[in-house]
Parts: sequence; C-alpha cells; structure tokens
Amino acid sequence: MSAEEFRKHGKQVIDWIADYMAGIESYPVRSQVRPGEIRAALPDRAPEQGEPFDRVLADLDRIILPGVTHWQHPNFFAYFPANASGPAILGDLLSSGLGVQGMIWATSPACTELETVVVDWLADLLGLPEHWRTDARGGGVIEDSASSGSLVALLAALHRAGRARNTLYVSSQTHSSLEKAAVIAGVATENVRIVDVDPDTLAMRPEHLATLIAQDLADGATPTMVCATIGTTSTTAIDPVRRIGEICAEHGIWLHVDAAYAGVAAIRDELRWINDGVAEFADSYVTDPHKWLLTNFDCTVLWVADRVPLIDALSILPEYLRNAATESGEVIDYRDWQIPLGRRFRALKLWAVLRWYGADGLREHIRTGIALADDLAGLVREHDDFTLLEHHPFGLVCLRPLWRGLSDVDSEDATAALLARLNDSGDLYLSHTKIGARTMLRVAIGAPATTREHVRAAWQRIEAEYRAVLAERVE
Ligand SMILES: *Cc1c(COP(=O)(O)O)cnc(C)c1O
Repeated sequence: MSAEEFRKHGKQVIDWIADYMAGIESYPVRSQVRPGEIRAALPDRAPEQGEPFDRVLADLDRIILPGVTHWQHPNFFAYFPANASGPAILGDLLSSGLGVQGMIWATSPACTELETVVVDWLADLLGLPEHWRTDARGGGVIEDSASSGSLVALLAALHRAGRARNTLYVSSQTHSSLEKAAVIAGVATENVRIVDVDPDTLAMRPEHLATLIAQDLADGATPTMVCATIGTTSTTAIDPVRRIGEICAEHGIWLHVDAAYAGVAAIRDELRWINDGVAEFADSYVTDPHKWLLTNFDCTVLWVADRVPLIDALSILPEYLRNAATESGEVIDYRDWQIPLGRRFRALKLWAVLRWYGADGLREHIRTGIALADDLAGLVREHDDFTLLEHHPFGLVCLRPLWRGLSDVDSEDATAALLARLNDSGDLYLSHTKIGARTMLRVAIGAPATTREHVRAAWQRIEAEYRAVLAERVE
C-alpha cells in the first residue's frame, strides 16, 4: 500500500469509525449470532491475489459487524466497561503508524521514556506514593492486562521469597487471574489458600488470613504473596488493605493489590480512601485505564514499590541485546518488567487521553459513572419487589427481584429467565454474579456515551421484563 493509497483508505477508516460511534445506538448491544455463523460466512482460505481495501470494508459491514458486541453502546452494562475514546484510538493509531518495537530503551528511547512519564503522571493523579515513581525506587509499567501485571508481581514475590513451598493467599472473591498466575508460576494448587470473606461485605477477613499464615509457617511453608482487591469483579467489594498489609509486614510477605477496575476512581479526591494502607504496605498494584479511564484496551498499569526484585526475577540478557545504554544502568529496559520480550508503544494512547481530557475531564467521567450508579440504586431501592447490594462505591449496581410468591429454586430460574430476555432483546446487556446461592444482576455503568436517560430506560426495561416473567410464573 503506497503512502497515497494509505492516505485514501486511512481517511475512509477514520470516517467509518466516526460513523460507527455516531450510530452505535442503532445496533443490538449484544451480538445475536450463533456459534460458527461468522466463520461460515468467511472463505476457507486466504486469497491468493491481493484485494482492494474497499472489499475489506464492505465485508466488515456485511459479515463482521453482526458478530460484534457493542461495548461502547450506552446500554452496555455487562462485566465492566472497556472504554474507548477518540484520543485513545488516535494514540493507538499513531503507535501502529510508528510500528515501534520498544523492548528495550535502545530500540526507541521515546517509547520507554514517554511510558515512564505517563505512569508517573497517573500515579500522581491517583494519589499513589511518591516512591512508586520511575525516578524513585519503584516504578510503573504498562502491561497488556491486569492478569499479566499480577503474574509479574507474583514472579517478583517468588523471587524475593526464594523458591520453597510457597503459599499464595487470595479470597473467594479474588479475580481468577491470580489462580491462573499460580498455575503459570508453578505454585501448586494446594498452596493457594482461600481466605474467608465477611458474608455481608464480601471483603477478605484479616483474622482468617493471619490464622492461615500461622498454620502454613508451622507446617514449614513459605507464605509468599497476599493479593488484596480494591473493587472485586463480582461486586466491587474492598478488602481491608491496611489490616492485611500489617499482617504481611509482620511476616515479610509480598502484598499485591488488584485494583484493576476501581483503582482509577482514586482520581477523585473523595475516593482516595479506597487506597488506605496502600502507600505503607503494598509491594505492587495494578489498575486498568482500559476499563473505566477512557483508554482503549490494552492498557494496564502495574506499579511496584521497589523495582529491584521485579527486574532480578525477570532480567535475562542475551548477547544480541547487549548495548551501552543498558550497561550504563541509566535507562529502564521494560522487557524486564513483563512476560514477553516485545512491546508496543502503548504509552501514546494513555498520553493522548491524559492530555485531551486533562485530570479534570477524567475526574468528571468517573464522577458521572458513580452518579448514574447512585441514581439507579435509588430507583431500585424505592421498588418494593427488588433488592440491591447497598455497598456500591463505584459504577456497579448489583440487584435482583425478590420474586415474592416463588420458591428459592423458582426464583433462581426466574432471575436467569429475566437476564436472558433482557440480553436477547439486544436493547441492553447485563451480566450476573452469584452471592451465596443467589444470582444477582450486575449493572456496570461507565461507558462514555451512557447518560441518565439510558440508565432510567434500562431500569424501566428491567422492571417491565420482571413483571412479564413474574406473570408467566404465578399464573
Ligand atoms: C477485570 C479484572 C481483572 C482482569 O483484568 P484484565 O486486565 O482483563 O486482565 C483482574 N482483577 C479484577 C479485580 C478485575 O476486575
């Protein structure tokens, strides 16, 4: 593709994306295709001869779009948001345009140095400790996902503890990526301890953590890492990081904090409390600008309080990567902070986001999500036939109908039927979680296009479909 052809098709693509954004409400939120439908519409083999780019765009509309779930749709309330934004898309496009592979400082100094600047900026905006800055003892890095960030933290913790019978502590509410990290890092499943949670708040119980650690020490194991979560995936519960941190400090255990979804909310002063204990006790911390902070997937920031154990754990220097800058010790080589060698220039999109919105714009975006969630919670609370989890500090509201007159088993079945009806309609998209034996509907608010009207309409829809399901069942 020549520069002139690129210019022409590039403009078409930008127009396509702009039209998509403007018209997003015309699509069903959740893709309605059946398994195999998209594949069946595509040729079995790659073309022998090249094709015009227009044909790719035509097939995008005809074949691909029906198989797309519209995460940027204002009625997308499932899982957590995966915010996209104009500046992030353009930043990512520039990264593609440069085509840089930033594995070490020497392979593109700006790729590394801009990354150090944006992660330091973000640490500052979130009120994270000074010593986590890349110009201090710690440092931040952009990873592809919180899952990778947590795995890297575990590898550093294992390195610091020394390989022994290492134990890892999580709760039933900890994200599954920690269990996966244990599998990958070679921590045996029987050495992953599940700490109890408080039945009401679903937060980790520090007393039980202390008991498990004492037992493991008595058994000759090496308690190696505790993962505390700020904003669990299921219900946005918040573990008591300070108490957990005190226990970790007593035994020299690595404290990892998973704030993948909720950490970015600390950009608002009134939410700084969510990080209580983090500055004093956390060894590592992950949060995902790619969820709620307007930065297209993938962009996770991992910070460490001390970068030495991380680099010691992951640094391998083959002859072909030797260079004067690395040898001088004056530069960061981010390949030592992640699993793969190669890395994209992800800092460009976060830089574009931080500059376009400014701290104030980002604070306003988070404020809006929380205000809309509060609004929804108020509507649910007023309704006699629904109940909700009263703890909803962020953009997630968990609710369910009470299904008066139905047995427990029938209630569960009715909740599942309600969820299927809503999602099959294509008008909105929710996900669910289980708390004890009860299924709750999760309404995760935070897409940039979502307004009060969307939330109110979603609630009316939930309420109307609830009445329809109930009517079918109590005849
Ligand atoms: C979403 C989430 C993750 C996983 O995030 P990825 O960036 O997709 O790996 C981990 N932990 C928590 C608490 C999450 O909500």
